Amino acid sequence: MTENRYANHCIICTVESCRHHNDSKNYCSLEAIRVGTHENDPTVPPCTDCQSFTPRSAG
Ligand code: SF4
Repeated sequence: MTENRYANHCIICTVESCRHHNDSKNYCSLEAIRVGTHENDPTVPPCTDCQSFTPRSAG
């Protein structure tokens, strides 16, 4: 199992089901992430997505 000890303090994240989430803090363990949208005309935060999300169960 991957251990994510690195916490990128520029990327706050609470998605614990992502394999890139820091194991003990609410930060991402990646150096950078990609953010996008699934909407044609995004207007509110839920319109946006972390496209670097990977389920913990993957790979
Ligand atoms: S990749 Fe995205 S969803 Fe996953 S821990 Fe980082 S910021 Fe959160």
